[in-house]
Amino acid sequence: MPTYEYQCHACQATFSVRESISQHGHADVTCPHCRSRDVELRMSEFYAKTPRKS
Ligand SMILES: [Zn+2]
Repeated sequence: MPTYEYQCHACQATFSVRESISQHGHADVTCPHCRSRDVELRMSEFYAKTPRKS
């Protein structure tokens, strides 16, 4: 399951969320630090480095 990195606009925290492909873009992502929904998806290096399992 891929990991997506988000940044919270409210508190500037960054955090990772695991979402399935089908969930991605549909699930409500909230900041684990301040519970804000004002979060932005970032294209993270972490995700790019994740080995693909076929
Ligand atoms: Zn936050």
